[in-house]
Amino acid sequence: MFAKKLVTSAMLFTTLSLTTLTALAEEVNIYSFRQPFLINPIMEKFTEQTGVKVNILFAKKGLVERIKREASLSPADLVLTSDFSRLMQLTEQNLTQAVDSKVLTTNIPSQYRDPDLHWFALTTRVRNIYSSVERVGPVPNITYQDLASPEFKGKICTRSGKHPYNISLVASVIAHQGLADAKVWLQGLKANLARKPQGNDRAQVKAVKDGLCDYALGNSYYLGKMLADPKQVAWAEAVNINFPNQNSSGAHVNVSGMALTKYAPNKANAIKLMEFLSDDLAQQLYAQVNYEYPVNARVAPSKLVASWGDFKADKLPLAEIAKQHKAAVKLLDEVKFDL
Ligand code: FE
Repeated sequence: MFAKKLVTSAMLFTTLSLTTLTALAEEVNIYSFRQPFLINPIMEKFTEQTGVKVNILFAKKGLVERIKREASLSPADLVLTSDFSRLMQLTEQNLTQAVDSKVLTTNIPSQYRDPDLHWFALTTRVRNIYSSVERVGPVPNITYQDLASPEFKGKICTRSGKHPYNISLVASVIAHQGLADAKVWLQGLKANLARKPQGNDRAQVKAVKDGLCDYALGNSYYLGKMLADPKQVAWAEAVNINFPNQNSSGAHVNVSGMALTKYAPNKANAIKLMEFLSDDLAQQLYAQVNYEYPVNARVAPSKLVASWGDFKADKLPLAEIAKQHKAAVKLLDEVKFDL
């Protein structure tokens, strides 16, 4: 009886193992900082085309720490981020691995991927300067540097300097002008703020509509999102979108992106998914659903986004800007930007 039991257990174990292996072969696990409304429709298409099931853990924060804690036992294959600094955190903490894929290097320009192939951008967005339609009008020649000059005193609204979008902007100014000049600029910008940094990017556009300030820093796609929201359309219509630094360094561009985890249990499927995300269909969905610029040059932005016009983007590779992130955070503290 004992022997019979043993045999049964052994058989059971084998069956389970096989099931597990089969399931593993047809799955991919994502930890996503990006939101379900954007990511779910894209993953449905991937599963439709490949039969690979996608499991997603969505969170606004804590995912990098979680991957670190889980270490080699982490179920995560792929991390999707909504900005560049998370990609940096992942690679700096040695939580990623390189992906050598012809599809990825063809679809994603070199400026927008890690030279060591540990991270890849999927979409780009401009850090724009919005101006009041009523009190300013369009200012196509405006620069980030202008925002520090005395004539802008009390006229600028922005979210926290410590938000990743602003840290990247400050890092790019350091990368272009050096630390000393960047400090003078940041002090000037702080001195010109209409109020303490607060709220998100959309709240700054609302503040322009409410007459609290004439200029606001904000990412490009939020204009599309506000125009699509009946409660916010009036905010969006109160501002002009201006692409900064068009006669000099070009507009600062941030990215959303992806990285393959160091211990990805479903590596082959994860790379298949990475390639899918960089290809035409997924890139079109990113462009249409969230008003971002596709990183893949074959894919056009949405009609609305295209109507904002062409612009010159900063040519400095993101990897160069990333080297200044720590200095940017230190500088923001030094000038007490948020206080
Ligand atoms: Fe955002």
